[in-house]
Amino acid sequence: MLVTDVAQTQLLIVGAGPCGLVAATTAARYGIDVLVTEQRGGGSSLSRALVVSTRGMELMRRIGLEDAVRAGAADVEPTALVTSTLTSTEGSVIPLGFPSDTEAAEASPCRPAWAPQSHYEPLLVSHLQAAPSATLQFGTRLIDLEERSDCYRATLLDVTSGSQNFVDARFVIGADGAHSTVRNKVGVSMEGPDDLADYERVEFVAPLDAVIGARGHALYVLEHPDVAGAVLARRGREDRWGLSRERPRGAAGMEDLSHDDLVTLVRTATGVQNLELTVERFSRFRFAAQIADHYRRGNVFLIGDAAHRMTPRGGTGMNTGIQDGFDIAWKLAWVLRSWAGLQLLDTYEAERRPIGLHNIGRSAEPGGARRSTNEALSWDLDGRVAHAWLDHNRTRMSTIDLISDGLTLFTAEDHSQWPSVADTTGWATPLEVVVLDIGTAAALGLPPTGAALVRPDGHEIARWTAADAPPKPGPAWSRPAET
Ligand SMILES: Cc1cc2nc3c(=O)[nH]c(=O)nc-3n(C[C@H](O)[C@H](O)[C@H](O)COP(=O)(O)OP(=O)(O)OC[C@H]3O[C@@H](n4cnc5c(N)ncnc54)[C@H](O)[C@@H]3O)c2cc1C
Repeated sequence: MLVTDVAQTQLLIVGAGPCGLVAATTAARYGIDVLVTEQRGGGSSLSRALVVSTRGMELMRRIGLEDAVRAGAADVEPTALVTSTLTSTEGSVIPLGFPSDTEAAEASPCRPAWAPQSHYEPLLVSHLQAAPSATLQFGTRLIDLEERSDCYRATLLDVTSGSQNFVDARFVIGADGAHSTVRNKVGVSMEGPDDLADYERVEFVAPLDAVIGARGHALYVLEHPDVAGAVLARRGREDRWGLSRERPRGAAGMEDLSHDDLVTLVRTATGVQNLELTVERFSRFRFAAQIADHYRRGNVFLIGDAAHRMTPRGGTGMNTGIQDGFDIAWKLAWVLRSWAGLQLLDTYEAERRPIGLHNIGRSAEPGGARRSTNEALSWDLDGRVAHAWLDHNRTRMSTIDLISDGLTLFTAEDHSQWPSVADTTGWATPLEVVVLDIGTAAALGLPPTGAALVRPDGHEIARWTAADAPPKPGPAWSRPAET
């Protein structure tokens, strides 16, 4: 085909799920010219993920959406109750690895939000649409991706008209979910099982708030013999609920039941015999525990479900994916703005794939939902600089809030040598110096004469005392290897 009209973009992102949207929003924040193509005609109404983790909420805070996400979150304890039915007064409590409000307050300015994906995806869409350097095209499916000498040529199909058009992009992010076309086009394979179990869910509205009373649990794992193993969960702030259960292969599903039988099933699960409910939708999903053998091929990067498929156990699929999206987007932005060299991009797979592998392993365990807060939170925060409240220009802020889009130097000493830190690297990365009081510096593990150099994701890449020789962080700005 003779191609005469080819659009250009610095960054093409395929897929406007939560991970593609976070990546696009992050790149747009740096003024990067980003095009997002999404095959759906508009935003998704699937509730799927029910919890945004502590670190996920820190990213929402950075984007400016923390309060808006919180506004759609259920007020629940971050625990599961194993019980006969929802209204049973007996049961045992299981920790899910998400911090309580008190635990979260020690570690972060944020706490997890038990809000459904259908609540915050539209928030991310609106936010992206307001970014001057970003374009979001709904109803546009990527059908081909061809590597050229200096770019990737994408063939995009308008799903309504059937017409095709072409875009040349310097970098491509595949955020197109579990069955990623981008992944297939660049020849990356998935490792691991994709058929651990089949699950189904009915989503409904019913007046259960009044039944539960005070703050309930995030999940209820049911033991009543007629619904054994099923899980009831609130979907956000309103009285919306989901009942999920394993669906044996070949067995009739919940959507095959008569309305009366379905109502009986939900009434059994809740223990409320006269419950009135409105069914909103049925869905099915397969448990998979897979990881891409590579997160990168050339200048194409995979994030979210395109890079890893986790079962819902542990609530890590989307939370891992939005952190992937943030990670690769700021790195690409730095390269595109000539703040760093191409070596920085090598750190994406090196830093994010081990987290994906860990969370996949957890989600594959039958008991993978159960975790202590300490263990799960350390994987979620992934070693970012410590949180401490401080008075900054007469405003109460967290150290996390002071991390800039370039490099940030935290120090207790306002010393003229600090700006020269950037000069030692050869890159034109902007540097912001944040002078802390001695107590806050100590919370970051810094002596009064010390300083720490931090990337946009909060990872420290160099630390020294003022008496040291001038610092020389690695040119790739990578995190120091674990010792
Ligand atoms: C029941 C259930 C509960 C879950 N609970 C949690 C939870 O509590 N916490 C959590 O972190 N995760 C949870 N997850 C996982 C979470 O939903 C996914 O990990 C998350 O949606 C992945 O986001 P994504 O942006 O990578 O992909 P998706 O959300 O799948 O988005 C991919 C997008 O790409 C588009 N697309 C696909 N192909 C193309 C193409 N060729 N061209 C253009 N567009 C394309 C699709 O239309 C889609 O909009 C749950 C999943 C399920 C099923």
